Amino acid sequence: QTRIETELTTINQQVEALDPKIRLESFSQLPLSEPTASGLAAVHFKSLTDIQSRAIPYALKGRDILGAAKTGSGKTLAFLVPVLENLYRKKWAEYDGLGALILSPTRELAIQIFEVLRKVGRNHSFSAGLVIGGKSLKEEQERLGRMNILVCTPGRMLQHLDQTAELDVYNLQMLVLDEADRIMDMGFQQTVDAIVEHLPKTRQTLLFSATQTKKVSDLARLSLQDPEYVAVHETA
Ligand code: ADP
Ligand code: MG
Repeated sequence: QTRIETELTTINQQVEALDPKIRLESFSQLPLSEPTASGLAAVHFKSLTDIQSRAIPYALKGRDILGAAKTGSGKTLAFLVPVLENLYRKKWAEYDGLGALILSPTRELAIQIFEVLRKVGRNHSFSAGLVIGGKSLKEEQERLGRMNILVCTPGRMLQHLDQTAELDVYNLQMLVLDEADRIMDMGFQQTVDAIVEHLPKTRQTLLFSATQTKKVSDLARLSLQDPEYVAVHETA
């Protein structure tokens, strides 16, 4: 066995043994791979925020998540850490194609997510791309076939799913909807529905929002399977 295989066996056992009801306080208490742990250390993240400590254990165990916590509570890492870990534990590699798709309502938010992904994922070997328009469709198309993780806005992503032959999503493992409330408020429901139609049904879906609205549960009903509801409320 190689060193990496030994590491994977150990992490898989630890994830299986992890009780997601127990609230952990720091990233070091989670069963994380060396590349993720060292990426988090490089950006000086140690303690888990509430939403992170409540959502990450379920997400590591492969569960769908419907998470709600206010802006600034650390939702980005609540989904990026499971994305990196779950693909790593599946030994995702260059030729496995697109493993995770992260949808964000705006270009600015997509860029922010991508920057965090680049920093925290720096010691992983996944290829990651940003699909937010702005460049020519053709320029984006050429690179899409080689990406393992994409961060995108809904309209541009659907355009590629309809028109880019190089983009193969049949193997997709994870779908993330960030700021699902804003995705709905901005009128992207039909676009997201059409994107989901392109994706394999057997996958893990993580949906995060700042508020719990009826519209979000409509979206959740369409795309989640037996989700774990994780809501962080402000306490007085
Ligand atoms: P949200 O998406 O919920 O609005 P973000 O993921 O953008 O929140 O995080 C808000 C801020 O908190 C960012 O500046 C981020 O770097 C910081 N942050 C996130 N998680 C942690 C953590 N575990 N420890 C310290 N700072 C964190
Ligand atoms: Mg956010």
